[in-house]
Amino acid sequence: MFDVSRIRRDFPILSSRVNGKPLVYLDNAATTHKPRVVMDSVARFYKLQNSNVHRGSHTLSNAATTEFENARKIAASFIGSPDPAHVIWTKGATEAANLLAYSLGDLLIKPEDVILVSTMEHHANLVPWQQTALRKGATLVPVPLTDEQTLDISAYESLLKKHRPKIVALTHVSNALGVINPVEQCCHLAKQYHATTVIDGSQAIAHLSVDVKQLGCDFYFFSGHKCYAPGGVGVLWGKEDLLKAMPVWQCGGEMIKHVSFDHTEFNDLPFKFEAGTPPIASVLGLAAALEYLSTLDRQAVQAHESALRRFVVDSLQQYPTIKVYAPFAENVGIVSLSISGLHHQDAAFLLDEHGIAVRTGHHCAMPLMESLSIQGTLRASFALYNTREEAETFVAHIIDLLSSTM
Ligand code: PLP
Repeated sequence: MFDVSRIRRDFPILSSRVNGKPLVYLDNAATTHKPRVVMDSVARFYKLQNSNVHRGSHTLSNAATTEFENARKIAASFIGSPDPAHVIWTKGATEAANLLAYSLGDLLIKPEDVILVSTMEHHANLVPWQQTALRKGATLVPVPLTDEQTLDISAYESLLKKHRPKIVALTHVSNALGVINPVEQCCHLAKQYHATTVIDGSQAIAHLSVDVKQLGCDFYFFSGHKCYAPGGVGVLWGKEDLLKAMPVWQCGGEMIKHVSFDHTEFNDLPFKFEAGTPPIASVLGLAAALEYLSTLDRQAVQAHESALRRFVVDSLQQYPTIKVYAPFAENVGIVSLSISGLHHQDAAFLLDEHGIAVRTGHHCAMPLMESLSIQGTLRASFALYNTREEAETFVAHIIDLLSSTM
């Protein structure tokens, strides 16, 4: 049995009160809270080891470097990467997507090529590719959704056949709807048309067990702060041959082997893509977060989060003034809804008065909102520490809000 009360003791912030009420934090898709082990690992670094990595000739720096590279092994093993050198530290998912759009874009995209994305992409996995397309004279083509707000696989297949895109960039899970995309199938299909696949795992990593080999993708990236780690760090995993062939992106210290005024020889993987001082404490915090997740029964976590969502969806769907998006799709634990006659922003404000934190708006997915002919939604996103009582509180307050629309 998954023991949520034991889990909650690991997250000090969950015992706070907001506006005089116990905090009900349902904004986990924006960022997750941090367990004590993560905060301890960051504090330990600053208390006992603070120094720069890789260039030290003293004991502290060597100890920090060892821990830093050990963190890379932990991240590699967490996503099934055969080699830690294929894991690049970035400052987050957004930086990883920009790195790829620039560097992989330069390697692969020529005028008139096509880059395929889905209609449900977060702007972070859309705008960088749009800029690449503009820079290169290529075209960005979106895969539409079905009427059930899932990825339209038959349209995807037709677009692969029609355009033979050089790059397919897809999110593993929609941040706005929580829908899980069949990325293994998508990567398999993309390979038949020789497309390189980039998967945005930002919303998947905290909820699903990810094995990049099994997914069959060429690149996978995510942010640490959405999987219980500190801000300012992300992971970009890529296939060795592509990472080796890609041109460098940001330049500076660490990513070089030798520099003269005539020529620079770049460093080997993974350092070739890690210019400047990395976010060392956050990397160590991320390793602690991934180790924390690894101690849990991930399937039980997923079942718990899905059950909370199912309860909320089933409770609210019966009200004709509430529209729940993608109610039946496979989902990580995100409920996205609209209430007719009540603006989502006003609803969030009223919920906040009761200590309930949700997110509203376009969720950085404006093209998705446009395809649904809406401005935004109210999004409640569950994490492993949320309880059935919190889901019930959310449902009760949403039902209360309905009376203000009459
Ligand atoms: N991709 C998805 C699916 C996201 O949900 C987010 C953040 O919400 C991002 C990318 C960008 O992540 P970050 O802001 O941490 O770089």
